Parts: sequence; C-alpha cells; structure tokens
Amino acid sequence: MQRLAILYDASQAVLSTFDLDEVLSRILAIVRDVFHLDKAAILLLDARTQELHIKTEFGWDPGSETIRVPLDRGLTGTAAQTKKPVYAPDVSQDPRYICSIAATRSEVAIPLMVREEVVGVLDCQSDTLDFFDPETLELLRLFSTQASIALANARLYSLEQRRRAQLEAINAIARQTTAVLEIGELLKQVCALILESFGGDHASVLLFEDDRLVLRAHQGKLTPLFKIGDELPASEGLLGCAIDSRKAVVEKDVSQVCGHARGFRETVSAVCLPLVSFGQVLGVLVLESASSDAFAPADVNALESVSDICATAIQNARHFDRVRQLAYLDGVTGIFNRRYFELRIAEEIARSGRHSLTFSMILVDIDHFKRLNDEFGHLLGDEVLRQVSAILAQQLRKSDVLSRYGGEEFAIITPETDLESALAVADKLRRVVESWHFPGVARPVTISAGVAEFPIQGNTRDELVKSADEALYAAKQSGRNRVITAQMLRRTF
Ligand code: GH3
Ligand code: MG
Ligand code: MG
Repeated sequence: MQRLAILYDASQAVLSTFDLDEVLSRILAIVRDVFHLDKAAILLLDARTQELHIKTEFGWDPGSETIRVPLDRGLTGTAAQTKKPVYAPDVSQDPRYICSIAATRSEVAIPLMVREEVVGVLDCQSDTLDFFDPETLELLRLFSTQASIALANARLYSLEQRRRAQLEAINAIARQTTAVLEIGELLKQVCALILESFGGDHASVLLFEDDRLVLRAHQGKLTPLFKIGDELPASEGLLGCAIDSRKAVVEKDVSQVCGHARGFRETVSAVCLPLVSFGQVLGVLVLESASSDAFAPADVNALESVSDICATAIQNARHFDRVRQLAYLDGVTGIFNRRYFELRIAEEIARSGRHSLTFSMILVDIDHFKRLNDEFGHLLGDEVLRQVSAILAQQLRKSDVLSRYGGEEFAIITPETDLESALAVADKLRRVVESWHFPGVARPVTISAGVAEFPIQGNTRDELVKSADEALYAAKQSGRNRVITAQMLRRTF
C-alpha cells in the first residue's frame, strides 16, 4: 500500500511537465529511487525504421546511445512487438536475450504504450538473478502506463510548439521576402531564414537559367563542392526527382541515391524543394545536413509552403530586375545609358575614395557624325552607333562600365586603372574603330577621346567629367581621331 502511494506521487511528478527530456529523466529517476534499480533505459520507437533506440539511461556502458534494436530482437524488441511486458528472471536461459551489460542476470522490458500504439520500451536490468518479484513487476507496469501518458503529452506539446514556430517562420519569410526586390539579396535571406527556422546545416538555392540549373546562393557551415554560378545536373538524383515530380523530396542518406550530385562534402541527409511559380519550375531549394535523417517528414508541408512563397518572391524580384535593367539601358545601342553612368560613377568615387584607389574615365565622341548622318541617312547613322557600341564593349574588360553618354558620345569608367593605362585603352579603341569596315559607309569612321584620372584630375564627379570633356574637346581641336589626357592638356595649354 505504501509503495502504491509512492508510485502515485511518482506518477504525478512525471505528468507535471511537458518537456520531453525532463519527462524521460524523471521516469528514470523514479525507477532508480523508488524501485532501487541501478540499470535502466528508455528506448523510443522510430516509427519509420521500426527500430528501438536508447533515448536515456543510467548504469549502461558508454556508447549505448548508438544501439538500435529491431522489433523482433531481444527482450525489448519482443516487448514492443508483442505489446506485453517480457521478464527474464535468468537472462542466460532466455534465447531472446541480447547481452548489452555483462553483469546483468535478470531483465524486464515493459512496452510504453499510448492507446494501442507502442512508443517505446522501459528496460530495467539487475545483477541479481530473479530480482523482480511479482509485486515489483506489477508496480513497474502500472508506473509505465503513467509514464507513457506523460511521454505522449510531451510529444504532443513539442509537436504543437514546433507547428507554431513553423507558422511563425512561414509568416516571417513571407513578410521579409516580399520586402526584398534585389534578387541576390533575396536569395541570401531565403537561405538564412530557412536554416534558422527548419534546422539543417546548409541551405542553397539553384535556379534555371536558359535550361541550365545554376547554383545562385548558399549559406551554412558545410564545405561547398560547387561555387556560385556552377551548373548542377537537373535530371538526376534528388534534384531531378524534385524537379520531375514537382514535390518535396526527403532523403536521409544521399549516398544511397543513384546519380545524386552532392552539394557539400559532409552532406548526409537532404530535402529538395522545387520552386514552382505559375506551373513553371524556377529552380530548387535544398536544405542539407551532416547528420543522417535530419529532416522530419512532418516538416515537409511547412517547407513546401516556404518554397511556394520563395518562388513567388523570386518571380517578383526577377520581374523587378528586368524593369530596372530596362530603365538603365539605351534603346538604340543596348548598352547602358547616361542614368546608369551617373549611378556607377557616384559608386566608383565613393569606393575609390574609401579605399584610396584610383580609376579613370574616358569620354569618346564619334568624329563628324553629323556629316555621316547627312551623307548616309539617319538609319545608317543608328547602325554605326550600334556597331561602335559593340566594338567598344568587345574591347573593354568586364569590370569596365560602358555607357552611351549622349548622342554619339560614350562614357567609360575603368576601375583601378591609372591615366597611362586608360590612355592605352582609349587609343586601342580609337585604332580598332578607325580600321573597322562599316558596311554601307564608304570611308573610315573615327573617334576622339578625352581621358581623366580620379582623383588627380578631379575628385568629384563634376570635376572629373569636366577634365575628360576638356581633353576630348582638345582632341577635336587638334585634328580628331586622337586621344588626349587631362594631364597633356595642362602641359599643352
Ligand atoms: P565632332 O567631330 O565635332 O564630334 O562632330 P559631330 O558632327 O560628330 O558633332 P555634332 O555634335 O555637331 O553632331 C552630333 C550629331 O549626332 C548630331 C545628331 O544628329 C547626331 N546624333 C545624335 N544622336 C543620334 C542618334 O541616336 N542617331 C543618329 N543617327 N544620329 C544621332
Ligand atoms: Mg561627334
Ligand atoms: Mg558629340
């Protein structure tokens, strides 16, 4: 009777918390203190693999947390499968017994059940033969019933908490992604938010660009095997599966997937979520982890909602990008316009000023363009403008900024380039144009250019442009088809 009263108190203690770890440790504390046992463990059932694994224990040897027991093996597996307590008063005589602790002589395994479903097993062992008398066994069984309820409550509670956290995350992602229109920034934020809300070690976004699936952003702590801009196979492995099925694909061990291109050296488990907008697959969102089985199928619905939000945000950002690009492009030549030049020169002055760097600018003007228009017509004039633009673009470096400054004038920003080098660049442009055969134009087309260096010939936008313009004017004055720097100007005039 007294033991029953103690048991009642013990049950109350176990039921008075919703924290799963706390419930588990209280169960074991009671087994130790009330039942005077020195070896016990709680094994939980993994519903997918149908294996028991040790969640918490005392008196077991180190390394026991890696033990996995299939349902038809050992006393614990048998208890879980038959849904009945299993007692071995002398383990050496029980063929089902698997030895995990050498000193054990008797063992009892009691299934932890919620309604008809087994959630785990309480395993108690003793160094004494037939340690568990019928009364103790009955009390343990009663206690296990209470412990099972506590476990079920804690699980429900953590599931609820997780759902709530996920809903909040979805909400935050929806709010934050609609506020970001710059696509690079958007993708970075998507990776960071997903990692924060759904766990995992690394998040990546891959987007289709002209039928190629390209890595566009990633964030996390794993070692990348690809770099931004690299192409990944879109028809194989998990990526192919997610793209073809247009559904989330969860994989607990990517090494088992035929043809899968692992994104990171340490990746073991992964979720691939197709980014679908208006029926079109824009790309894939990938969440990866260095541990196996890191992503719960229960999270998939929430992750799919996130990927839908991201797909729409990516679509919006792309649209914005296109509109913005159009605003900075010149309609006749397709190169950048004056507005873009103004934006970039302000950036370049700020950047170079900050890092004590130099850069140069070149102003180019087509010689006697009015005459060319008059002689050959405006349409051919337009064509010459397009061809000169193409020649200049082709001769310049990727980092140089070429824009149409006005009519038949072009402005070029050459970052981290001094006056002498910029002069060489300008003169090369002049020579290439001079020797170019323009179809329909019966004589050579030439250009003149003025070059100025920041900050020597101007440490503000206006001063620098003025110096380059004066040099250009001097080039015109001194006969055209030539390049003059602001520095020569000072000497000449
Ligand atoms: P200079 O050698 O001194 O630069 O002489 P220029 O004739 O090139 O210079 P001017 O500034 O007198 O004339 C520029 C001409 O460029 C006038 C204008 O009709 C023409 N032009 C400006 N924009 C366009 C365009 O978009 N298409 C065409 N076809 N012509 C243009
Ligand atoms: Mg001109
Ligand atoms: Mg002009």
